[in-house]
Formats: sequence, C-alpha cells, structure tokens
Amino acid sequence: MPSNTTNAYIQKDLQFSAKNYHPLPIVLSRGEGIWVYDVEGQKYLDCLSAYSALSHGHVHPKILQALTTQAQRLTLTSRAFHNDQMGNFLEKLCKLCQMEMALPMNTGAEAVETAIKAARKWGYQIKGVPPNQAHILACTNNFHGRTTTIISFSSEPQYKEGFGPFTPGFELIEFGNLQQLQNAITPNTVAFLTEPIQGEGGIILPPQGFLQQAKKLCRQHNVLFMLDEIQTGLGRTGKMFAFQHEEDAKPDVLILGKALGGGVYPVSAVLASKEILGVFQPGDHGSTFGGNPLAAAVASAALDVLLEEKLVENSQKMGQYLLEQLQKINSPHIQEIRGKGLFVAIEIKTTSGPARPFCEKLKDLGILCKETHQQVIRLAPPLIIQKPEIKLIVEKIQTVLQEK
Ligand SMILES: *Cc1c(COP(=O)(O)O)cnc(C)c1O
Repeated sequence: MPSNTTNAYIQKDLQFSAKNYHPLPIVLSRGEGIWVYDVEGQKYLDCLSAYSALSHGHVHPKILQALTTQAQRLTLTSRAFHNDQMGNFLEKLCKLCQMEMALPMNTGAEAVETAIKAARKWGYQIKGVPPNQAHILACTNNFHGRTTTIISFSSEPQYKEGFGPFTPGFELIEFGNLQQLQNAITPNTVAFLTEPIQGEGGIILPPQGFLQQAKKLCRQHNVLFMLDEIQTGLGRTGKMFAFQHEEDAKPDVLILGKALGGGVYPVSAVLASKEILGVFQPGDHGSTFGGNPLAAAVASAALDVLLEEKLVENSQKMGQYLLEQLQKINSPHIQEIRGKGLFVAIEIKTTSGPARPFCEKLKDLGILCKETHQQVIRLAPPLIIQKPEIKLIVEKIQTVLQEK
C-alpha cells in the first residue's frame, strides 16, 4: 500500500491529469545512472528507461553539462535563423547513420509524420505517382506514435476507438510476411514502413532475413524502405541500429528519436538521401522547436557518450548475459524469453494471468518495469548497466516468477 506521502501526489495526478496512462503507484523524484528514487527515499533499478529514451542513464554528467552550458548561451532561435549548433549535430548524426541529410524534429511521432510526408512527396515528384494516389504499407501490431494519421494505420483497436475519421492511403501486411508485402505493392506504393523489432507490440523479432528481403523487394519496385528505429536505434539491440543484425538491410529512410535526446530533451530526426529529403522546399514542412540549439547540443553530447562509453558493445554483452541468465529460470509462468541486446521480453503464459501483477511485485523488490501488450514484461535498462546489476535483476525476477 502506498504511504500518505506517495498517495498525496497520486491523488493530485488523478484529480488534475487526464487519465491516458495507468502508471505503477510510485512517485519518483530523483535519478542517477540506472537508479531512481521515490519520494519516500526508496531506491529502484530502472528497467524501462522511459521506453528506451534513457539509454545513457539518468542525469548523465556529460549530457547534463552540454544542457546547462548551452542553456546559458542560446536555447531557441526557430528555423527562421541559423544557429551555431544544428549543423555540427546533423553532420555527426549523418556520419553515424551513413546518410546524406537529416531533418530534425522533437518527438518520435513527429519524425514518423515527417517520413510519411517525405515519402508521399517523393512519390509524386520523383516516382511519378498520380496526385493523391500515394500508398504506404506498414505492418500489423505496429507502433509508430499517437497522431491521428499514425493511428490511422494501427491494428490496435484501443488506439483508434473514438478517434476517427482516419487518414487514407495506408495498408497493413503481417509483420514478417514477405509474400504479403510482395502482393500488396502496387505502382502507387511509395513506401514500406516498419520497426525492425516491434517494441510496443511486445518485443517481436521478425524472421531472420525479413528486413534484407523486404529491402530487396522495395528496391525492385522503386518503393522506399523506411525503418522506425525510434526505440531500437542507438544501441538498444546490441548494434548501433537494429537493421545491422542483417546484411544489406540499411533503409532508405531512417527514423530516430527517444535516446537521441540523451534522456533529457525531446529530439528526433529523419535521415535519408538528398534525393528523398530534397523534396522539401522552404515552407513545405517545419517545427518551431525542431533543430533548436539546445536540442542540438544535447543530442550531440548524447551521441558522443554513446561512442566514448562503448554503450553499443555493452548492450550486446550485457544483453546476451541477461538473456542467458533468464533462460536458466525454471518457472511455470514463462511462455517465452526473447530479445536482442538490452531489449528483452519475458512473455507470461495467459494461464498465469496478465504481466502487470508481476511488474507490481518487481516494483516492491526494487525493480521497475512496465508490462507491454498484457502478457509481456519488457526489460530495457539503461545501456550503461553492469554485470552485478544484471545479476540483481535476474535474482528478483527469479523470485517473482517462482512464487505465486
Ligand atoms: C515511442 C515510439 C514512437 C513515438 O515516439 P514519441 O516520442 O512518443 O512520439 C514511434 N515509434 C516507435 C517505434 C516508438 O517506440
């Protein structure tokens, strides 16, 4: 039972905040590295990392330094003027992604919207699709954000219920099904958009070779292959990008967000060739905060930390260790354990009930995680995590999965 202190905060949220979330009953007030502290002073290991936005850990000193230094110089210019931070940041990002150009935005959903607009305009201007006929393919069980256009191609009834009418021009194929992809492509198809591993959908890995083959199909039919790596990108899966787990699966359009902001500031981006992003002319598209100097300084530091601290390698090593240790647990509740890097799912058998009570028990043992899609406990700790803390996670999970 939450104490009076905790309850007072929760009551205020319940009174004044729309109830579009159902958080665990815990009120956090401080974070450091992989740890967070609640208003009672209790310490927890953060295994959610704000849906992978906190890959660098909480309040990383170097990222915080970049934030405060830049905050004292210049925070916002709008794109009506140039600033002295954006160009350097985008150059660094383009080199890392091996892309020619980037378009900076703030949230993930905005970056996905930007990619959709780029693909449509590319379709009309370059591919020669007749006006207003552009067609985009996406996958069942996808998650690409919450805007009205993006939920138009969600297969999750709750994301759509009550929010129609929807944006036309999208069609779904089953995630991982190449035959369906091939059958769905028409002369008006401008893009195929997918996550390389479905995150909110429950950490679902496609069949090996799917991305490579999908890219090949796209190339054959002059369709843009667009990967949403907002959650999987920047080391989460043990490679810099999840598409690198396959040969020759580099997308035409790469969408990044979440960890790009170093856990302190919303920064997202769309990366592609000059041909594709070149379709935007002044006035076509924009964002007041997109590419602002504070965002650029923070994201630039976040990229530096990722490389300097070898977080991608650590994600690979620690992820593999976590997976191996979890697979040794003998519990009647486990349906499947899967994942790549520090992106791991424990799927609970439906006969054992939903995953949420397991997450609530883990919280009581000092491990914070959140269920996704009813049956799945998602483990995605900050990429700075070390072996002793992985052992701690495994020990607590073992406890929770063996009782009940
Ligand atoms: C979180 C997420 C988004 C949306 O990002 P927001 O910043 O919440 O708008 C889009 N795509 C994927 C794969 C995500 O995980």
